[in-house]
This record gives sequence, C-alpha cells and structure tokens, in this order.
Amino acid sequence: MRQIAIMEWGGKVGAVDAPTPEPTGTEVLVRVEMCGVCHSDVHIWDGYFDLGGGRKWEMSSAVDLPFSPGHEIVGTVAAMGPDAADAAGVQIGRSYVVYPWIGCGTCSRCAGGEELLCDSPVSLGVRCTGGYADHIVVPHPRYLVPYDGLAKELACTYACSGITAYSALKKAEHLQADDWLAIIGVGGVGLSAVQLADAVVGSRVVAADIDPAKRAHALTAGAEAALDNGAEDAVKEAKRTTGGGPAAAIDFVGAPATFEYATSIVRRGGLVVVVGLFGGEVTLPTMTFPNKLLTITGSYVGTLDDLKAVIALAQAGKLAPIPVTQVPAAKAGEALSDLKEGGKVVGRVVLVHD
Ligand SMILES: [Zn+2]
Ligand SMILES: [Zn+2]
Repeated sequence: MRQIAIMEWGGKVGAVDAPTPEPTGTEVLVRVEMCGVCHSDVHIWDGYFDLGGGRKWEMSSAVDLPFSPGHEIVGTVAAMGPDAADAAGVQIGRSYVVYPWIGCGTCSRCAGGEELLCDSPVSLGVRCTGGYADHIVVPHPRYLVPYDGLAKELACTYACSGITAYSALKKAEHLQADDWLAIIGVGGVGLSAVQLADAVVGSRVVAADIDPAKRAHALTAGAEAALDNGAEDAVKEAKRTTGGGPAAAIDFVGAPATFEYATSIVRRGGLVVVVGLFGGEVTLPTMTFPNKLLTITGSYVGTLDDLKAVIALAQAGKLAPIPVTQVPAAKAGEALSDLKEGGKVVGRVVLVHD
C-alpha cells in the first residue's frame, strides 16, 4: 500500500510504500477511495494543538512518523478478518463511509456505547493510520456506514464536519421554537449547522461571523438574522436582535474572542457549546456562572449514531452540498499548506486515491 504521510512535524509530506496489512479477527481492510482534508489535519501536521498560555498537546506523544492523517474516509471493503465476515450487510467491494472516532473497545465506556469518552481512543487519522493512506484497517465492520444516493466526495465529509455540526446542535435540542440559537463562525462546519438547525433544534437561528460573505451565506442557508461579532457594539446588537440574548450559543471557532462573545450574549440560564479548536485561553469572572446560571459545555465530533443520522438527513435533502475540490492524494501537502494559509480553500478539499 501507499501512504501519503507526514514525514516531519510541520515539514515534508511525502509518499511511503508499506506492506498492505492483513485483517485479523473482526478487522476490515478498506481500500480508501477518497479522504477529506480537515482543518484539524493542519494541527496534526504541525504536530501540536494549542492549549493556551504557551502550552501544547504534542502529536508525538500519540503517534510516530511517518504518519498518515485523514479521518473523512470513504472506501471499499478489500478484505475482512475471519470474525468480521458475518457482519450484516457489509460486503466485499461495496463502498462505505468509515466512522473514525473509535474507542479501545474494551473499557467500560466503550462497552456502554460511549466511545467518544474512551481514555484510550484509536481514532483513525489521529491515533492510527488514516485515509491519506490508500488502505486502512478498521477494527470492526460496524464502523462502516452505507451512503446510498449520496456523492462519495460529500459523504466522506459527514464523518467529521457533518457530525461535528449535528452533535453540537443536539446539545441545544431542548430549545423551544421561539428561543434563539446563536451559531458563531459560519464557515464550513458552522454553515452546515445553520442548515441542520431546523431539523435538529427547530428554534430561531441567528448566525454570527466577522466575514460579511459568510454572514450572507448563512442567511441563504436558513439563519433568520446575521450579526458581525467583531463590531464594536456586537454584544448589544445580539441582545437587541434576540430580545435579551439567545438561549444557547454554539462557538464553532473556539477562539478567546468568540468564546467571550458567546458567554456575553446568552441570556440568563443560557448554554454555551464550544466546538472550535482554534485554541487560546480566556479569563472569566467565576461569578458569571451563578449570576447568569450559565452552562458551558464542549462538543467534539460525534457518535456512530450521529453519523448515521447525518447521512439520513443528507439523503432526505436536509443538507445542501458544500463545495468540494477533488485533488490527487499525492497533492496532500499542497492541500494542507493552502488550508493553513487560510482564505484559499472554499468548502472542502478531498483527496482522491488512484
Ligand atoms: Zn475533522
Ligand atoms: Zn475504550
């Protein structure tokens, strides 16, 4: 097999040939057709995530180089281990979206179906070889989800950007029809959230972004109002628009400025959901929590059931296609550079293996 891999952290991305693995037990060998290039791949390429205050989470503590990232994977089943063969519906040669956020499978949380809470995850493209390689090993056929009727290059993106939007929205499911939900940062994932908000939450939606073009997109995608969170009177404007503040705000950026905006605009008893991995840190008066009866929670990707739900919503036409640019897998390094520079990529770049 051929792996497009990070050869040095923040440096060269190149091709490595390696023996194609043989699946054992319940494992499935998937021949990768396409793999989306996610912004978190840029952090992985850099070799760290910014924890704020100069602290970093180093990728080298989790994986060795050369390493193939890639967690938005669509591919065909090439071979199955002896204990995988009986899994209902999964067939050799058929194409599936691969659920990448996989737990160890043995701890109590994995046993209880809470794989995202596993302390020893084996996530594809983060902890194990991902879809920048042309073959990957998936631990069990249950992680393969059919996507009949959807385009491959879109279906793969649901494994990260789609379920991230969906899972964050689910945390605001309790909102009533006349409550406001603020969606902050309406680039890729945030824009998907605007589209899905009606199906998942059903409340009124206000989008916030510093980019006027993105605000305009959000309005056509279903937001009732759009705010400039970089404006001088941004907090006042949000409160005015929503009659006292939204009941919940989802921060798809995760920068100090957007987080402060979210906590400032929500009404008393409000909920702030932090999704974006921009990084940094904030200082918040502890009194804010009791005074505002404020709830802050985090949301990270989504569950296997979330992926199935997003695919069903896309099949039902509730998720408009995002722009996708297909490039040969060998160009992964350029795709990562373009994404890192920002502004160059509209929608998703999807790597295509030959
Ligand atoms: Zn991702
Ligand atoms: Zn586990």
